[in-house]
Amino acid sequence: MDTRIIALANQKGGVGKTTTTLNLAAVLADKGKKVLLVDSDPQGNASSGVGVFKTNEDKNIYSCFIGAKEAVDCILPAKLKNLSILPASIDLVGVEVELIAQENREKRLKSILRSVTGHFQYILIDCPPSLGLLTINALTAADSVLIPLQCEYFALEGLAQLVQTIRKVKKHLNRELFIEGLLLTMYDRRNRLTHSVASEIQKHFGEQVYRTVIPRNVRLSESPSHGQTIIEYDAGCSGAKAYKQLGTEFLMRTKARA
Ligand code: ATP
Ligand code: MG
Repeated sequence: MDTRIIALANQKGGVGKTTTTLNLAAVLADKGKKVLLVDSDPQGNASSGVGVFKTNEDKNIYSCFIGAKEAVDCILPAKLKNLSILPASIDLVGVEVELIAQENREKRLKSILRSVTGHFQYILIDCPPSLGLLTINALTAADSVLIPLQCEYFALEGLAQLVQTIRKVKKHLNRELFIEGLLLTMYDRRNRLTHSVASEIQKHFGEQVYRTVIPRNVRLSESPSHGQTIIEYDAGCSGAKAYKQLGTEFLMRTKARA
């Protein structure tokens, strides 16, 4: 099976990384694709978002990082058909420090995923809000990176640093890495600032910006507390419709590149 690995990254907190990882994964799974969601954030929001609130025993990505477990032994099926998760736990907080002294510390996730890659068509990695070793590991393991951006005044702040980091990873660790796209989230049509931020981003990044925008929608913020993706929680709401559209655009772009 051909596998595409996509990291969802932005060192800014609260921009919609996890919401997008969860719901893009759900939409692709709903379209019949085999999808693995990798939670690489100690906050574990992607894990709880699909109903894995506390990982039993030590079946989680941290155990994989320290070499105590294989990924295949930690992956759980989500409730949604075709969707699986490699969950995170709070232990992951310590992993960056523990990795420092290791050789190939940037390539750990890549090797963790190697053995399961062929079982999935898409692997989506949810990154923490930093440019530390966890995010570097995700960028090194990925084919491409999808950047969610919240339409607010400071959206562009830090973006240059992220792009710079992507360039460095490309140069030293993962030559094939490319930017999958930039996604505008929490879009509010009534807000003029939203429009000016959106056009600023489009001016800088052109075609790399997804045509689909994700509106602000309270259902999207409610669904994780029920351990459900938006498809399961309220398939008819504006947020669900937007993520379905994102799924379609995502697949079209993938196809156009092939
Ligand atoms: P962190 O950097 O902490 O990991 P994040 O980038 O993963 O954050 P999310 O957790 O996806 O961001 O979103 C931040 C908050 O905004 C969450 O409470 C989420 O439910 C809410 N949220 C995300 N997208 C939307 C949206 N389109 N409409 C309304 N609320 C949203
Ligand atoms: Mg998150």
